[in-house]
Amino acid sequence: MELNVLVLPGDGIGAEVTAQAVRVLNRVADKYKHTLNLTEGLLGGVAIHKTGQPLPEETERLALAADATLMGAVGLPEFDNAPPDKRPEKGLLGIRKALGVFANLRPVRAHPSLLDSSPLKNHLVQGTDMIIVRELTGGIYYGTPRGISGDGLETRAVNTMTYTRAEIERVTRMAFHLARGRRRKVTSVDKSNVLENSQLWRKVVVETAVEFPDIELDHILVDNCAMQLILNPRRFDIVLTENMFGDILSDEGAVLAGSIGMLPSASIGGRRASGAWTGLYEPVHGSAPDIAGQNKANPLGAIGSVAAMLEYSFGLKEEAAEVNRAVEAVLESGRVTADLKPTGTPATTSQTGEAVCEAIV
Ligand code: NAD
Repeated sequence: MELNVLVLPGDGIGAEVTAQAVRVLNRVADKYKHTLNLTEGLLGGVAIHKTGQPLPEETERLALAADATLMGAVGLPEFDNAPPDKRPEKGLLGIRKALGVFANLRPVRAHPSLLDSSPLKNHLVQGTDMIIVRELTGGIYYGTPRGISGDGLETRAVNTMTYTRAEIERVTRMAFHLARGRRRKVTSVDKSNVLENSQLWRKVVVETAVEFPDIELDHILVDNCAMQLILNPRRFDIVLTENMFGDILSDEGAVLAGSIGMLPSASIGGRRASGAWTGLYEPVHGSAPDIAGQNKANPLGAIGSVAAMLEYSFGLKEEAAEVNRAVEAVLESGRVTADLKPTGTPATTSQTGEAVCEAIV
């Protein structure tokens, strides 16, 4: 099979972990005799440096032409006080919007060999296996009006949380379809006791769920969800939520997985100019300026994103399972990066990537 993949390494550890993910992708393509056509593009701080734009037109064009895009992370401290349009994160929101990938899937699993890496008690975390389905192209991150106006004590900042029925329906259907391949339970998260936006969310989820009588549905308020994720994470199978709530809850999920460096993500649902589906694959973590350039970032979230790409964009389930098996083998070997608190000398980013490649035999 021909795999046309755009790689956007981005900033900080984004570039470091992506290099290892690409190594693993090459190894799998080689083993299973797929033709891998890789192109590379600019996104984020590195793109601002080279072109003045966080999402250059060329990158958007390449992403729309590729079958799938593999992304690192963006963000550089030097842009922390830059205007919103000149910040690396604008590129991230821009590419998600350009590709129209409206459903962000964030699997959270407690790997048996990592139970001691979580600050939570083993008996709470053990058996955790959920996917957080986060709506990705709507909500408060994109809503208008937005901005800061006025001055002095009258300075005012406005953001708008907005969803249409159509936006809620399509991500709800995606979540319910996913539930069919799992434990058949969807938990929808909202703040319907306070927000009209959440009241519409809940109403549309309930109405859409009628199409899936074989799937159990329950609802939870986002504040309680934050608590239950820690107290009783096994109760969740598919967690369906809007953009900002999903952003926050999935970082909390990182605690269950042992480290944020472990978490992959897949953003799907968009269509290319040709009409074919596309996907954007990236680890959940950011560019981690505190450890960038030290070859110590955990690349397993980025490598897990390769597995997700093989499965969701190319339908290559066996190849995806092979990558996940190799990651599991590396975790069991105990030769892992410092964030996973190994008993011996921590492995470097590149040693971990190499170990995953070696485990694909
Ligand atoms: P972060 O995820 O970059 O880092 C949070 C903490 O987790 C840091 O202590 C970091 O060292 C650690 N960490 C993250 N990934 C790790 C890995 N793979 N291995 C080991 N440790 C890891 O979040 P932050 O510090 O809030 O943000 C830093 C920058 O990244 C900001 O500019 C932010 O806007 C950006 N960001 C980008 C994305 C993205 O590109 N998708 C996501 C989140 C944050």
